[in-house]
Amino acid sequence: MPFIWLVFIAILPVHSQDVPLKKGLDAISELSVKGQLDFLASDWMEGRETGEKGIDLAADYIASMFQVYGLQPGDNAQSYYGKADAFDMQRTDTRVNRYFQEFGLMKSSPSEDHELSIVTQTGDSRKITSFEYNHDFMFENRPVISQEGEFPVVFAGYGLVNKENDYDDYKGLNVKGKVVLRLAGYPGHRDTASAAYRKFHPAGNEWTKYRNEMDRNKVAMEKGAVAVIMVYSVRDIILKFAVNVFRYNYNDYEGDVPRKPTYHDRIYFPGDSLSNSIPVFIATLRVANELTGGTKVSLVSFEQQVQENMKPDSKELRDKKVRFRTTVRQSVIKVRNVLGMIEGENPAEIIVVGGHYDHLGKYEGIVYNGSDDNASGTTAVMSIAKACMATGIKPKRTIVFAAWTAEESGMLGSTYFVDHPPAGKIVAYLNYDMISRNAKDDSAGVKCSMIYTRSCHVLEEISRKYNEANALGLQIDYKPKEKPSGGSDHNSFAKKDIPVFYYMAGFHDDYHKQRDHSNKADIAKMTDIIRLGFLSIWDIANREKFPE
Ligand SMILES: [Zn+2]
Repeated sequence: MPFIWLVFIAILPVHSQDVPLKKGLDAISELSVKGQLDFLASDWMEGRETGEKGIDLAADYIASMFQVYGLQPGDNAQSYYGKADAFDMQRTDTRVNRYFQEFGLMKSSPSEDHELSIVTQTGDSRKITSFEYNHDFMFENRPVISQEGEFPVVFAGYGLVNKENDYDDYKGLNVKGKVVLRLAGYPGHRDTASAAYRKFHPAGNEWTKYRNEMDRNKVAMEKGAVAVIMVYSVRDIILKFAVNVFRYNYNDYEGDVPRKPTYHDRIYFPGDSLSNSIPVFIATLRVANELTGGTKVSLVSFEQQVQENMKPDSKELRDKKVRFRTTVRQSVIKVRNVLGMIEGENPAEIIVVGGHYDHLGKYEGIVYNGSDDNASGTTAVMSIAKACMATGIKPKRTIVFAAWTAEESGMLGSTYFVDHPPAGKIVAYLNYDMISRNAKDDSAGVKCSMIYTRSCHVLEEISRKYNEANALGLQIDYKPKEKPSGGSDHNSFAKKDIPVFYYMAGFHDDYHKQRDHSNKADIAKMTDIIRLGFLSIWDIANREKFPE
């Protein structure tokens, strides 16, 4: 039977370490990936909003998957429940619960009950004019706390500080403890042919202009203002308020009530300072006229003058006061990171694989499923956990698998984790956020990007090696960064100087929209990105030294 011997000889040279790798890879199938993605992005998860029921269902599901795969609980006694042994004795289910790193956050939800009045003092008489919320004023920055008071008011032009052009609306102006009235825009913004326009027009796209306005509200706050009243030009106001008059009608939303803004509620750590945000009102000209009436300020002549002479003309509006009251409901919410762990031979070195599982919730019957953002990344975390267990081998280093809460509120879950880390040194973090879609220029469904810590170049080498060796065929845009920042959880780790790498598949129009459904996922590409992550993690977890 020599022929059979030949076959054996052909099989034998396969490296022994390839067998566990193959077992791991086989554990990541398109079917299992799709199953988990569909479940997490189903309407029953109700958009996985931090502090709501849907996210707790998702958390329980992830924890149960970790148990199914045989992972150990990943919260090693750092959280409230883990820390107190005495407390453990009262609980019968501590093992289960320690898949959760539990902590508390504060939530501020603005109500619909707000007041804005202008007080005019003439001699001994005092006139109070009150305005209606959602008719004469709205919020650009929603209040974080309930506030009430009567304050002096200053007119501060555009609220612009522009060093290059030696222009400063705050020069010689004290706004501490006062309300700042300012116009939206900049000198010359009404006349694109003017010299002032060419000088002050912010370069870039619409976002730059928007950013610019936000920065100006921040300047007012830093100078000690208690609130900003922002006024648009006449034309802009009609546009801005017109949407409130009739039905709300967008291509993906129609209703009698406004669509829920993505950041309607503010969620933050209990110890965070509340002084880091002041209310910014947007007001109609009716409010502005009441404020400037009988004073030396005229918004129309200011805009004409400043366009010609490019000189600020800020002043206190004497005899005028602004009274406002903002109401906010504050509550404590309990949240959970889900953590599973495979203990390594050397538990002092830890690799973390993570992705956030929260999303935007639901509103008026519309569920923001957040399939790509970030049921996809959460599925990756679970799949890699499954694959690592499937190898049947104890890795050299410990691997922690994490599903983060409250990313959409400012990466709070991952921030809490890096501030309350497991014992040991975290040597690398792999982040997944939005790995299931194709950008417009990716009709073949093969592109993705990998942002990583530049000083840890081996991360790119590892990724290249396995993408080729396993013929995954991914076209990866490698983006080394000094300290990768930006809007996902890798940021929390990079801040602590932990080497990170972060896969993202492609940006799309459904981002943060109700249209982010799982039937739009490119499961084949997503599965390949997960496989690549598994191969990289397994390599890092088992090589002699990391980082080199
Ligand atoms: Zn995300």
